[in-house]
Amino acid sequence: MNKRVQEVAIIGGGIAGPVTALALHKAGIRATVYESYPSTADGLGGTIALAPNGMAALEIVGAADAVRAVAEPAHRQAMSVGGKRVAMPALTGVEPYQVVRRADLYRILHDLAAAEGITIEHGRRLVEAREQGDRVTAIFADGSAVTADVLVGADGVQSTVRRLIDPDAPGPRYTGMLAFEGVSSFEVPEEPGTMTFAFGKRGYYIYWPALGGGTTFGVNVPHPRPLTIKEARAVPSREWWETLLGVYGEDAPGGELLRHLPAEKLQVNGALYIMPPVPHWHRGRLVLVGDAVHAPSNSSGQGASLAIESSIELARCLRDFDVPEAFATYERTRRARVERIAARAAKINHTKAPGPVARVLMPIIMPVFMKLAMNPEKMLGPDQRYRIDWPAAV
Ligand SMILES: Cc1cc2nc3c(=O)[nH]c(=O)nc-3n(C[C@H](O)[C@H](O)[C@H](O)COP(=O)(O)OP(=O)(O)OC[C@H]3O[C@@H](n4cnc5c(N)ncnc54)[C@H](O)[C@@H]3O)c2cc1C
Repeated sequence: MNKRVQEVAIIGGGIAGPVTALALHKAGIRATVYESYPSTADGLGGTIALAPNGMAALEIVGAADAVRAVAEPAHRQAMSVGGKRVAMPALTGVEPYQVVRRADLYRILHDLAAAEGITIEHGRRLVEAREQGDRVTAIFADGSAVTADVLVGADGVQSTVRRLIDPDAPGPRYTGMLAFEGVSSFEVPEEPGTMTFAFGKRGYYIYWPALGGGTTFGVNVPHPRPLTIKEARAVPSREWWETLLGVYGEDAPGGELLRHLPAEKLQVNGALYIMPPVPHWHRGRLVLVGDAVHAPSNSSGQGASLAIESSIELARCLRDFDVPEAFATYERTRRARVERIAARAAKINHTKAPGPVARVLMPIIMPVFMKLAMNPEKMLGPDQRYRIDWPAAV
């Protein structure tokens, strides 16, 4: 007889952790989230664009409306290369990308979890896991331990659980870029809800009119080694601001966006990573979800959305199967999709490399752009129209 899972310990209280807990709760399975940070992420900077498929997945756990209430919808997208703008073809009949502050998304998920009686414990950094029969014990840095039927690693790109599953698992690959964001008082002439992907003389950036006035922009800047957010924030913001000006200062509107942003308002988001394919998604009672197992380049615009989808699919599999079959089915339903999206984003990522952007770029992005223009449905449909049929048996 099948022995269904009743109790799950989830490591990581970012996006995948709380969504997995909410979906498990919906499936009648108890879950507790353990997060290493000592407190909630209030005040955490940066924005995340959620794709239509990610929003549809959030709908399943009842979080979509709360996100829409605080998000800025990106109705239109345009590309600007060397100052020349072209509208980007988009899918029809799907909800726009919803751009939300990371801190708002965390708060919404944490509030929902609390309302469902799910506990998120802070200051609990997982260091070890031990399996005994059908149970697994998670051991934390403070020496405390908890035992559950399953341990989910939703612990991000630097995952400890991934290493516990397979000590030889590949680590994340640094893209060579650090990410920054800011809200400039410079007004761009674009309509609200227009997101522009701009390829300037020496670098790539993205910007859109901010709801409260001014323009939000995000830039990637080459840096020889990855810095943690803490390390990057230890560098005086004036130094970063000047580095950014060196890369974007001659671009329109990149230079103006920067010059209208006081250096101390520059938000440092840290190093950008990509996860190469992970050979083992699970072992015994341990399983991975979200960035821990599939972090595509941020060029995909899909990292968080895929993390949300996988969280829900994992819960659905645990609802319908005993552990070995649940994990195998989960991997089978998710691996091809996430690896296809990651592989495509990795190609686009090359175009963000430092150097004389427009010249290096044209031969790479023009064919992609032409394909997109010819048939947006073929390029974007499978990503953005993907829906999980929660009530259906897996
Ligand atoms: C600058 C930047 C911009 C991005 N923009 C977008 C975007 O616009 N759209 C999009 O879809 N995606 C975007 N992404 C990607 C997106 O942020 C990730 O895909 C998403 O956060 C993955 O969620 P996660 O829960 O798997 O991991 P995370 O959000 O990284 O959460 C992991 C959590 O686990 C905790 N943790 C780690 N180790 C332990 C441990 N040992 N014990 C306990 N807890 C632990 C961490 O503290 C963290 O809270 C962006 C990423 C970056 C860096």
